Amino acid sequence: MATLNLLVLVCFLYVAFLFTIAFGADRAARRGRGTWLRSPVVYTLSLSIYCTAWTFYGAVGFAARSGLEFVTIYLGPTLVMIGWWWTLRKMVRVGRSQRITSVADLISSRYGKSNLLAVFVTVLAVVGTTPYIALQLQSVTLSFAAFAANEPSGTDLPNQQSIALWVALGLALFTILFGTRNLDANERHHGVVMAIAIEAVVKLFALLAVGVFVVWGLAGGVNDTLARIDASPIAAWEVSGSRWVGLTMLSAAAFLCLPRMFQVMVVENEDEGHLRTASWAFPAYLMLMSLFVLPIAAVGLDVLPEGANPDLFVLTLPLQDGRDGLAILSFIGGFSSATSMVIVAAIALSTMVSNHVVMPVWLWITGGSAVMSGDVRNVALLARRTSIAGIVLLGYLYFHVSGGGTALAAIGLVSFAGVAQFLPALMGGLYWRAANRTGALAGLGVGFVVWLYCLFLPSFGPSPVMPQAVIDHGLFGLHWLRPQALFGAEGMDPLIHAVMWSISLNTIVFITVSIISFPRPVERLQGAQFVNVFEHSGSPPGWTGGLAQSEDLLIMSQRIIGGPQAQALFAAAAQRQGLAGYLPEPSPEFLQEMERELSGSVGAATAHAMISQIVGGASVSVEDLMAVADETAQIMEYSSRLEAKTEEQERTARQLREANQKLTQLSVQKDAFLSQISHELRTPMTSIRAFSEILRDTQGLKTAEKSKYAAIIHDETVRLTRLLDDLLDLSVLENGQVVLNSQTGRLGPLLDRAIAAAGVDAETFRIERDRQAEDVMLTTDLDRLAQVFINLISNARKYCDSPSQVLTIAPKRQKDRLLIDFIDNGSGIPTDHQSMVFEKFSRIGETKAGGAGLGLAICREIMARLGGDITYLPGQSGAAFRVTLPQPFADTTPPVSA
Ligand code: ADP
Repeated sequence: MATLNLLVLVCFLYVAFLFTIAFGADRAARRGRGTWLRSPVVYTLSLSIYCTAWTFYGAVGFAARSGLEFVTIYLGPTLVMIGWWWTLRKMVRVGRSQRITSVADLISSRYGKSNLLAVFVTVLAVVGTTPYIALQLQSVTLSFAAFAANEPSGTDLPNQQSIALWVALGLALFTILFGTRNLDANERHHGVVMAIAIEAVVKLFALLAVGVFVVWGLAGGVNDTLARIDASPIAAWEVSGSRWVGLTMLSAAAFLCLPRMFQVMVVENEDEGHLRTASWAFPAYLMLMSLFVLPIAAVGLDVLPEGANPDLFVLTLPLQDGRDGLAILSFIGGFSSATSMVIVAAIALSTMVSNHVVMPVWLWITGGSAVMSGDVRNVALLARRTSIAGIVLLGYLYFHVSGGGTALAAIGLVSFAGVAQFLPALMGGLYWRAANRTGALAGLGVGFVVWLYCLFLPSFGPSPVMPQAVIDHGLFGLHWLRPQALFGAEGMDPLIHAVMWSISLNTIVFITVSIISFPRPVERLQGAQFVNVFEHSGSPPGWTGGLAQSEDLLIMSQRIIGGPQAQALFAAAAQRQGLAGYLPEPSPEFLQEMERELSGSVGAATAHAMISQIVGGASVSVEDLMAVADETAQIMEYSSRLEAKTEEQERTARQLREANQKLTQLSVQKDAFLSQISHELRTPMTSIRAFSEILRDTQGLKTAEKSKYAAIIHDETVRLTRLLDDLLDLSVLENGQVVLNSQTGRLGPLLDRAIAAAGVDAETFRIERDRQAEDVMLTTDLDRLAQVFINLISNARKYCDSPSQVLTIAPKRQKDRLLIDFIDNGSGIPTDHQSMVFEKFSRIGETKAGGAGLGLAICREIMARLGGDITYLPGQSGAAFRVTLPQPFADTTPPVSA
């Protein structure tokens, strides 16, 4: 028990030591001291979070189970560091010039600031990392258990779950304390990075110490160790070529894509030059880490009893030999590996979760109303802190639920394969300008689904989500959908199978969709900047020349939102900052405000891109941007002018078309009228001529005959006169030569007069009236108004085709107008003729009644002269005309009190 207590004590001391280191480093950095914090050595050591507990303990287990395959886990990153050094440099450069805060941010920024994409990457990263955090917690509890097992029997084994919980809580606390001191991505987590660098040294030292002990303490030196390796099953292990290549590529991909690696490699990077050192120093570190893996595995298999967990050889070998001190060192090494991974992963994931999920949701809920105040900062900090706690606890929950069972052992590679799905979008984004958001989303989506289906879900063994039947016979019994033999690819290693399908389908879909879909302008802009980052950005930019930047910002905003408005904005900000003059410091608050202001004119994405270009180290020259701004303004103005013009033209064309149609119809009518009028003129003329000739030339006509013929001549003459009268009347009205004779009279008697004049036969033609409503006093030209009424009444009598004709005359008062509707019960006037009947000479169909089509035209003219109107009322039971009269008129009776 003494050892166990000692272990707990050492653990506490070690943690306290880490807190001190982190605290000291943070303080030194804040005071501007401690250039040693930014040394390439610290950077290289911080990369060692790649070696988690899974590598510290697991590599030996891996070697004991699968021979030399464990080397691939080190080989992948080594190849990347050496061979892909320029890709890393590009990532770092992009990260700096675009102020990238996470791998999700990089991918979303590249594809036009797409938050959807960021959310997607975040979710994938959380899903992929949670089991990995659980794995770290498991390794800590297992190593505790290994110590406890070595205790004299009877001592209480510490409760594994509670150990894991305490470790998780401690880690969350540390991460919150040192990981969220500030928000600005430019200010790095010096404390955390320093602590991690120390942990890197500790774990390397511990592993080397155990290695030395095993080779020279347990085995009898190098030769003896080599002999033991030769004799062990490890030597006999056959290396499968495809698995070897697959695993190497997988770990290389994961090295580039893991959120925590991105955090230390890109976000925490102080100086691009550090990469140069890291490119050889980190592989060297990895080599040292892997140096004693085989000896420890071989000797462990040899010395320890059958069935001992090879994942714990690093710990159990010294323990079993009674080397408690070394065992504690080894434990601290494993502890370091586990904690540093969890801390950095929690920082990286919490940045993603809070920036891409929590903050957008919060801004959406508050409607951005709090953006002006300092709220955002506090909320962002809170979001980050809760995300950290949430992520670590999620890892704990996963550990708790999975029971820390064997399912965790393989989870490292499963996680690798999950995050490796970012690779196509990431690399495409850095090297291929045509890559776009739709492609990235589609590729990631497909990769994620295949990974989930082929690797993640089956990794738990048969479960309710993935029953044995599906594993054996495929989803829905479709053979080609078997998760471990997709599209009939049988006999492959399940991991390699899943990696091959997920990555290749991901890549194919990404490329194809990118080719066939069109990127938005901001995607193009970002694409150009990412791909050509080296051409545009010089040496890493800093915050120097703040006011010069402000000047550029002002020039740009003037071009977008106009001079006075931009100047007012800047002057107000400068005043708020307490600066003399009109140029404020480009503080984050001011930039946010400006971005909002600009996005009103050019759209949020463009505003964001423009500002970040000027502020975040222009990778396009400022002049270029100005041109873009100018162009945008011009294009916008031009296109709105064009739009207005097009609309106007369309309207004119429509009017012309309508007028033309009317003209054509009228011309047809006029032709018809001309033939009609000549016919109508000729008919009376012919009979007048014929009967007058009879009267002149026939001798001995009887008096009765004479008077009959004279009467015919008279009637015909009257008809002719009427026609000519109408024509004359109309032309007088149209020329405005009428003199109106205004009188005052009641509507009722006026209608009586009109009905009488229309010569209506009350037997065959019934008129319905509303005497009460007719009791209105009018002041207008009553004779002309009567003329209109007569025309409407006689039209109804002439054209209403109902066997029992009824005409309803309904006057109604409406505000300052008087409406008089004449509605008969005939079949009315067809819709396409309704607008025509008021035209001169217009008649519908065959005119049995012999009208010349002038009546309604005259009515319209009269009403216009009287300051009123006459219209056709569509949708009534028969033909319906509405006469509208303006004031003055008055009720002659007091209103009826109902
Ligand atoms: P007209 O002098 O020939 O009566 P109008 O200008 O008064 O000419 O009327 C034009 C045309 O409108 C008529 O030829 C007739 O076809 C149609 N019309 C007018 N009033 C009615 C009505 N009450 N019912 C059906 N058709 C009508």
